[in-house]
Amino acid sequence: MEQEKDRLIRGMAFDGKVRAFAVRTTALVEELRTRHDTYPTATAALGRTVTAAAMMGAMLKGDEKLTVQVKGDGPLGQIVADANAKGEVRGYVYEPHVHLPSNSQGKLDVAGAVGTTGFIHVTKDLGLKEPYRGSVPIISGELGEDITYYFALSEQTPSAVGLGVLVDTDNSVIVAGGFIIQLLPGLDDSEISAIEQAVGQMPPVTSLLDQGMELEEMLRWLLPDVKVMDEMEIKFKCSCSRERVERTLLSLGEQELQNLMEEEEETEVVCDFCREAYKFTRDELKELLEQAKS
Ligand SMILES: [Zn+2]
Repeated sequence: MEQEKDRLIRGMAFDGKVRAFAVRTTALVEELRTRHDTYPTATAALGRTVTAAAMMGAMLKGDEKLTVQVKGDGPLGQIVADANAKGEVRGYVYEPHVHLPSNSQGKLDVAGAVGTTGFIHVTKDLGLKEPYRGSVPIISGELGEDITYYFALSEQTPSAVGLGVLVDTDNSVIVAGGFIIQLLPGLDDSEISAIEQAVGQMPPVTSLLDQGMELEEMLRWLLPDVKVMDEMEIKFKCSCSRERVERTLLSLGEQELQNLMEEEEETEVVCDFCREAYKFTRDELKELLEQAKS
């Protein structure tokens, strides 16, 4: 079956006092699952993280990009997701082979895998000298609430965040996606409670997407007067290259490169984000070493 392309829509409601994002990341999360061989609970945790990152990337402009790091005390170790304003997303998890029994609601136990203590770090490269950095403690481990907390605390923007990944019995991804609703200044109390009520009554994102609901309908469910401003494609993309790996090897220093050359017939460097393997023979390393010396 031809996989539908992932997309993201951005909209406004309440005369511009609410901005909204909705995204489908099914193909992206399935691509990550196959590249990293994640087990279902790990797939859900990584999938929710990259889904949030994709929408946060859509809040950027031009060449800006960001990294979301989830550092919990659960068995997954760390989750890392990169996204940019062009809809390019990548991500990985330290321990992909994590699968836990379902939680009390019969759902994948994301909080159990992430952990309920730790931090979420968001680093934004906005083309300035210093990157922007925001960190918040993990409050739930389910990630949707944690990203909500990040927006409230670090960006002073009250938000509602929904993230979901539905995994099939063969471990493949059925649907993945999410939404972010952000309340901007100027809303009155009755408007805020209407939004809160809609968010509270909304079925899980995965059930809506699984029923075939379009992103526009999903936003309209939450914000009946929403106007969709634009949309973009979301896709997996890794920025690694042989040249970058060469630079990393050189940064190890002469002695370390010399050791590698002596110990290994062939040195293999695997990209954490996409699992692409870059191989270097002794002769190629020797050449690199000579370049470094000159
Ligand atoms: Zn890569």
